[in-house]
Formats: sequence, structure tokens, C-alpha cells
Amino acid sequence: MDKTVGIPRALFYYYLFPLWDVFFRELGYKVILSPATDKRIVNLGIEKAVDEVCYPVKIYYGHVASLLKKADCLFLPRLVSIQERSYICPKFMGLPDMIRANFPEHPEIIDHTFDGSRKGQSLSKDLEHLGRKLGHPPETVRRACAESIAALREYETKLKGGQNPMTVLDGARFGFGERKLKVALLGHGYNIYDPYASMNIIAKLARLGVEAITAESVDPAARDQAAEVLPKRMFWTLGHRILGSALYLEQRDDIAGIIHMASFGCGPDSLVAELLERLLKRRRRKPLLCLTIDEHTGEAGLDTRLEAFIDMIARRKIS
Ligand code: SF4
Repeated sequence: MDKTVGIPRALFYYYLFPLWDVFFRELGYKVILSPATDKRIVNLGIEKAVDEVCYPVKIYYGHVASLLKKADCLFLPRLVSIQERSYICPKFMGLPDMIRANFPEHPEIIDHTFDGSRKGQSLSKDLEHLGRKLGHPPETVRRACAESIAALREYETKLKGGQNPMTVLDGARFGFGERKLKVALLGHGYNIYDPYASMNIIAKLARLGVEAITAESVDPAARDQAAEVLPKRMFWTLGHRILGSALYLEQRDDIAGIIHMASFGCGPDSLVAELLERLLKRRRRKPLLCLTIDEHTGEAGLDTRLEAFIDMIARRKIS
């Protein structure tokens, strides 16, 4: 019988799942994905996590808890960096250790380190190293790496083409009303694409007749160029992506406004939000709505702010 590997549907699931999924399946594992985030998963996470961690990490804990008895092993990578000169938030590095400490009953944990910031290192080299460490023959590992990198590139091409991870990974569909407005919706993918965490903000916007354009659809070269106005390159991968995309989308005539969704208690987000506010205020071209979410956020309050913002940009567009 195939060995099962559990993958939490949280954090970098929205960026790298096609890579992990194909890699493990090619190595002969059966991949078990945790269910979509819901109240039960969030409560499981809150119960286990320390109060100080951000909402997305609490959700990750909940997903791990839901997989404990379902898989022979858990894949909880130690993500340091996925590109040169850029880093993932330090919380990701400590995740495997925090999970071990909080879930003594855990099955085997595959916590391989991915650090693409090192010279000569890359995602595919780290993946190859992991395959060898797991004891698979070199030829099988090479094929698994090639297939999984190809799956990731295909996924990224779909996102650049305007599809979003909820559609590609989870089969979500969004209808649009009569009013055709576009707004930039920026934030960590694990917030905005998780329907429970974001209170389904993309579907809410769609019901208001608004299309959400996210950072993943922006050409990386265009967002890098737009981010050159910053006095210093932001070294957080997602922070750089959010800021560069905001600065690029802000210049597009079809974008009526910008929404930034941040996590309460997130260090990188607080800096990004502040920079975003200052930069956009200086340019005075597009309205900005900043939303901060955590497990205490009330949906009615979020709806009111969203509707007021959309009304305002719709009127602004007409006048
Ligand atoms: S970047 Fe912010 S939201 Fe993401 S894991 Fe780090 S602290 Fe949490």
C-alpha cells in the first residue's frame, strides 16, 4: 500500500501546492490534503497555538491537527527562501519545531529546508536533495523534480493569465454582476485566497460586480520595476510582491481602487501597510482600503466597509 503524506491546506499551499503534490505522487506517495478551512479547523489551531502568533499560523496549526491521524507522515517544509535575495517570514522557519512541540502525538514529519537565497541553490535542487534524503533512486527523483517544477510553472502561468488559486486549486467559480469595476486586492495569498480567513472577499466583491485583480496575475518584471521607486528593496518575498503589484496596478487606468488585506499581529504586514498608505497618499490617484483580519473580525463590519468603499469608487468613476 502507498505511504500517505499529509499536506496542510494553508500558508504556502496557495503558492506551491502543485509542486508538492506532483513531487510526492511521482515518488509513489498518496497525497492527503487537509479539508478547507472552517470554524472547527480554526478552533483546533487556536487551542494549540500560542496567542502571539498570527492568524494564518493558527490556521496552519488547525490544518495540521486535522491531518494527525489521517497520514503516515506530514510534509511541513522549513521555508527560508524561494528566490535569491528574498526571504519568507521567519515564522515559516520555526513551523516544524513549533508543531513538534505542540503535537507530541505527531506522525513522522518531513521538514526539509528550502533555502533558495543561497548562491547556486534553487527550489529544484532542494527538492532533489529531499527526494534523495527520502531514499528514492536518483532517476525517480530526477523525474519527480522535473514533473513537479513543470506543474508549478503551469500553475503560475494560469495565475498570470488572470485565474486565481481558488479557481485553479479548489474549483471556485465567481459570477459578476452588471457593474464592471476592477480593484486590486493585495495581501498574503493564504489570507485572500482562503475563503474562510478572508470571509470570501473575492466572492463578496464579485457579488458587488467587482473583479479582484491580485498580485499573482501581475508580471514579476513589471512589479519589480514598479518597486524600484522604493528607497530599499524589500527582502520579504511576499511583501515585495504586494508593494510592487500595488505600485504597478495603481498606474493602470482600469483599476478603480486598491484593497490591502493584512493579518493582525503580522510584522511584515504592518510595514507594508504603512508604506502603501504613504506612497499612495503621495500619488493621490487611487483610493486605498486597509482591512486587518484575525479570528475576532466580524463579517458585518467587513461587509459595511467593503460596500462603502465600492460605492465610493463607483461614484468617483462616474463623476
Ligand atoms: S508574514 Fe505575517 S501573516 Fe505571514 S506568517 Fe509571517 S507573521 Fe504571519
